[in-house]
Amino acid sequence: MHELGIAGYLIEVAEQHLQRAPHGTVRRLLVRIGEMAGVNPDSLDFAFTCLQKGTGVDGARLEVERVPLAVECDACGRRTPVADYVFRCGACGAETVRIVGGREMEFVSIDADDPEEAACAPD
Ligand SMILES: [Zn+2]
Repeated sequence: MHELGIAGYLIEVAEQHLQRAPHGTVRRLLVRIGEMAGVNPDSLDFAFTCLQKGTGVDGARLEVERVPLAVECDACGRRTPVADYVFRCGACGAETVRIVGGREMEFVSIDADDPEEAACAPD
């Protein structure tokens, strides 16, 4: 299961970050995952729940923010969402577009109880 590796990676990154800052109980990890990243949020949540026991983020909730697939148009410069995998500009209809969203997988934040500097994102 692909998501098991991702969950392990997220926990590792969170723990590394938490080691550098004094913190209380970790409440929430917020990650941003694109629609095209090939990650099933339910599987990821399950994997995270299994792996978090005994780690620095034991008891924390994993929250996934889904990023829809989007393109940026070379002709008009607008950024529009992609529907049904039709890669063309939603504003002017041009087909010269670049994929600008939907493939990312990144950490947004780690929320923990005080001290106040604990709630910040890793570099
Ligand atoms: Zn356009």
